[in-house]
Amino acid sequence: MKETILGVDVNTENYDELIPKLFHNIDAKKKSLVVAINPEKLMKAKDDPALKALLNRAEFQIPDGIGVIIASKLQKGNITSRVTGVDMMDRIVREAARTGKSIFLYGAKPGVAEAAAAKLIATYSDLKVAGTQDGYEKDTSKVIDKINAAKPDILFVAMGSPKQELWIEEHRDNLHPILYQGVGGSFDVLAGNVKRAPAAFQKAGAEWLYRLLLEPSRIKRQMNLPKFLFQIIRQK
Ligand code: UDP
Repeated sequence: MKETILGVDVNTENYDELIPKLFHNIDAKKKSLVVAINPEKLMKAKDDPALKALLNRAEFQIPDGIGVIIASKLQKGNITSRVTGVDMMDRIVREAARTGKSIFLYGAKPGVAEAAAAKLIATYSDLKVAGTQDGYEKDTSKVIDKINAAKPDILFVAMGSPKQELWIEEHRDNLHPILYQGVGGSFDVLAGNVKRAPAAFQKAGAEWLYRLLLEPSRIKRQMNLPKFLFQIIRQK
């Protein structure tokens, strides 16, 4: 099920409901793309029809960020829980390990994807990592050939948004993987280069507060949230 927020479709399901759908598509060889939706992207897409169309073309749009949940509440929608990019990736990896599907990690600085892969294998010993590639190789055909030669079922691309989604869209017809997810800075988080908020902050949906405490200059970016919520109220 999807719900439209500022003109962008967003899935209403939680992790447990999404996983079978994603893996059903893999078994049916139906290519699909997962994009994370947050208020920042929705505000950008509002003034950028190409970005809006790109987000709407994805097969799955997950509600990342507490702002999306509040927006859904304000418009009396059905999205009740966050589905974050990094946690969705973890669920996909867990299911891949369970069902014997292989993954490929593409993106981040040299060495980071390998470190992220090592962390994942330490957690999920059955996981098949078909390969890794840093996000700074200029020769696109070289990257595509490397991914295709490794024959992964699932490709995670970590080059920031919307760069990663644009890359996937441009090349997915020529790529072997069936499931695609743009995961932003998740490889850095997995590799331990960037710390996530403590569990208490995560549970309270207040990772934004933790980041603000660490990095007060983020207030400028975070002031976009009230602006975003105002847009939601105004559209009614
Ligand atoms: N990155 C990359 N290639 C590029 C630009 C960026 O691989 O040409 C990587 C960068 O090293 C970092 C990630 O993309 O790991 C960007 O993460 P960020 O947190 O900015 O993305 P967001 O989650 O905000 O979309």
